[in-house]
Amino acid sequence: MTHGLSAGAASAPVVTRFAPSPTGPLHLGHLHSAFCGWTRAQAAGGHFLLRLEDIDAGRCRPAHAAAILADLSACGLDWDGPVRVQSVHLEDYRRSLDVLAGHGLLYPCFCTRAAVLADIAAAGAAPHQAPDGSALYPGTCRMLSDAERADRIAAGLPHALRLDMARACRQASPGLSRYEAGQGRIPCRPQAFGDVVLARRDVPASYHLCATHDDALQAVSWVTRGLDLAPSADLHRLLQSLMGWPEPAYAHHALLRDGTGRRLAKRDAASSLRDLLDRGTAPAEIRAMAGYG
Ligand code: GLU
Repeated sequence: MTHGLSAGAASAPVVTRFAPSPTGPLHLGHLHSAFCGWTRAQAAGGHFLLRLEDIDAGRCRPAHAAAILADLSACGLDWDGPVRVQSVHLEDYRRSLDVLAGHGLLYPCFCTRAAVLADIAAAGAAPHQAPDGSALYPGTCRMLSDAERADRIAAGLPHALRLDMARACRQASPGLSRYEAGQGRIPCRPQAFGDVVLARRDVPASYHLCATHDDALQAVSWVTRGLDLAPSADLHRLLQSLMGWPEPAYAHHALLRDGTGRRLAKRDAASSLRDLLDRGTAPAEIRAMAGYG
């Protein structure tokens, strides 16, 4: 594998993964994504891992998690080793947050979503969106004094933990870049996320932190996933640099669309793997529909 990474990373075995969140039934787009990782590992004699990203207890359901494993198997996809289930590893993510906090890179944010939007409106600005769709945070709680923070925490006010982006960028390796299949090295712009939330008030860690942590822990060498997540890779490279985690290569694939050009969604029964299987569609046909015939 030659992708411009360090010599050690370039000679490491190819490890890919599929990391769905069990928030609904899988559809053909998920199968396409899973096979992107599977075929890359297969072609290199490497390993393909399955990970359940289920830290958001409000949106994830054990029944969906069980269905993911069953549907992927029924469609002929297999994976190596045990499935990593994020919700049973919250302590790992806590430790990573502690490391970042130890470097002075996190601060508690007491704002509700409504308060963030109100602050933006009060400043007479239009809300700018971070690449993940959240409103770019104006930094209200970054300005609090240590005493104000301590008072609010002592009063039991719920809070999220945000990354101080400007500081983080100063502490990270200069000229951060990443390797994207078909493009080579491209510069990263994690600043586009602003002071991103790394632990929500209701969920102990964010997708960005957990996914990046696990990719490092599981020695994932190629992150294969949909193009919609490509901007997140810039933020993930920043976290890797701050935490001293190895750098994977990235292969973001185009999203599978329906006949009208619309992106497939979990709510569309037409492309649900379970529905297709229940209607007697052969696994080989389902794989072909997902682009892997
Ligand atoms: N869990 C994420 C999702 O279902 C994907 C994460 C990733 O591949 O990095 O959208």
